[in-house]
Amino acid sequence: MPEAPKNIPEYDCCGGSVKIYDKNRKALQFIEEVTSNADEVQKQVLSEILSRSANVEYLQRYGLDGRTDRETFKKVVPVVTYEDLKPDIDRIANGDSSPILCSKPISEFLTSSGTSDGERKLMPTIEEELQRRSLLYSLLMPVMNQFVPGLDKGKGMYFLFIKSEAKTPGGLVARPVLTSYYKSSHFTDRPHDDPYTNYTSPNETILCPEPYQSMYSQLLCGLYQNTKVIRVGAVFASGFIRAIKFLEKHWHLLCNDIRTGTIDPIVTDPTVREAVMKFLEPNPKLADFVEAECGKDSWRGIIIRLWPNTKYIDVIVTGTMSQYIPTLDYYSNGLPLVCTMYASSECYFGLNLNPLSEPSEVSYTLIPTMCYYEFLPVNRKHGFTGSFSKPVSLEEKENQDLVDLVDVQLGQEYELVVTTYAGLYRYRVGDILRVAGFKNKAPQFNFVCRKNVVLSIDSDKTDEVELQNAVKNAANHLMSFDATLNEYTSYADTSTIPGHYVLYWEISLSGETSIPPSIFEDCCLTVEESLNSVYRQGRVQDKSIGPLEIKIVESGTFDKLMDYALSQGASINQYKAPRCVKYAPIIKLLNLRVVANYFSPKCPKWVPGHKQWCT
Ligand code: AMP
Repeated sequence: MPEAPKNIPEYDCCGGSVKIYDKNRKALQFIEEVTSNADEVQKQVLSEILSRSANVEYLQRYGLDGRTDRETFKKVVPVVTYEDLKPDIDRIANGDSSPILCSKPISEFLTSSGTSDGERKLMPTIEEELQRRSLLYSLLMPVMNQFVPGLDKGKGMYFLFIKSEAKTPGGLVARPVLTSYYKSSHFTDRPHDDPYTNYTSPNETILCPEPYQSMYSQLLCGLYQNTKVIRVGAVFASGFIRAIKFLEKHWHLLCNDIRTGTIDPIVTDPTVREAVMKFLEPNPKLADFVEAECGKDSWRGIIIRLWPNTKYIDVIVTGTMSQYIPTLDYYSNGLPLVCTMYASSECYFGLNLNPLSEPSEVSYTLIPTMCYYEFLPVNRKHGFTGSFSKPVSLEEKENQDLVDLVDVQLGQEYELVVTTYAGLYRYRVGDILRVAGFKNKAPQFNFVCRKNVVLSIDSDKTDEVELQNAVKNAANHLMSFDATLNEYTSYADTSTIPGHYVLYWEISLSGETSIPPSIFEDCCLTVEESLNSVYRQGRVQDKSIGPLEIKIVESGTFDKLMDYALSQGASINQYKAPRCVKYAPIIKLLNLRVVANYFSPKCPKWVPGHKQWCT
């Protein structure tokens, strides 16, 4: 297998400057080699995973018997979903440290934003996976450097955050993958003189567990170093926009700090204060400049006005995040939006080799050393068009339908299935990808969508079944008024920041008493209480999702919606009211018929970790 480039930068003999050129060359060479030999690498990856895992209970259960060849593996090991693995994962979470899924010790659980039974999925991981993730990160800037030179001459202003962590009953830490990465030495002890990981935010501000203080201090540091910033970003577009909105609210305080060289007392974390105060000095000129820009009526182009040397915005705008592209364009006056990588809690997958491509054209090249990939062709039978059915395990024959990395067909859509070093075998990730091209022998994929997800604002992913249950629970409040919910649909409204879920309800009232607003507010809250923990965390802790809104529409609105669909060619026999709407004319049709609207009066309940764990 081609050797991965070392993450440690090399130094020249005369004074310690990083040999960027050499490092970049090695990274690009690595990509060339692994993509040219994609099939051989994949074969080796599978064989390595299976030979290491020969003794694990899960594979023994299926009688793999230590065999490591693809044919036997595909024949005997089933394609599975999280639900299939849940009993094994629960055992690990409860403290069984025998080799159930992986021969190496499970170091922690990564809590995915995908949910099961309303709780985050728990992805087992092992220590060495951190190296694999670091490897993928180390390839990003060498690729970027080919398109935007001079990136070693300035800093990146990235808004990065950690989230709360919990312990499973068996004592393993459970936290999101990025929290795990930012807290690891791979991130905190990165070489000071690597210009590609030179950020405006000191580590302490990123590792601050309190979201307000973390955001405030990161913005202060970013503003203070404004002329040094040559790239800006966050993981997802929603996070970056949240930072700009935060600035809109708090620029007076931030300017005051820049003017006086202090940090507002609201930031109480001593490590953050110390890290920021180390370099903060009074700068009245900069404070005047920021004040003048932020005080203008329009915030159009605010990013390039405040950070004038910015060359691009590094955020994911593929998938549901594409809804934020117009807002980013507004704030940046159309700076390039760069989506660099495609990753998940299960495994990091690939990177964008053409980072300046338009968001709609972005494709990710899956790196063959990361895991063993298989692809389930998407067709009506395995459909993902928002049906109510939960994904089910495949029948034996269908197990054979999966194709290998190098065998996917241009233009065809597939669901991604992975076998990882950390103990997932033929696991359905739930993402739908479309083959857009090839880099040597390795395919490049457009991200099409996440299966079944109907609503998403930030990292929340609400599917139709969850929405249906939540609406059903809420509609119970109407019963004592002899009212029934006839039809509903939903919409992820990102015109407000933070965005929020909107439900359109058409109700019929047979009783005499009109329904007081407080009842509809209770309905809003009940929907929120019934949604999964990622949604509720977004509402409570991250404040990345605004209060849920119910809009009551006049009677007959859903008939109008049907008329509209039929006029657009829908078949009357097959017509069902959509449970989520995205198309502007339909949203307009609904909004024109709104007779009242109500918001959730408070945040739903949320605690870190699964509700059944003591935290
Ligand atoms: P999580 O399990 O919370 O880490 O979320 C991983 C999921 O986020 C993936 O399975 C995708 O659905 C989504 N995701 C990650 N990277 C991208 C990307 N570059 N574009 C679109 N969606 C992405």
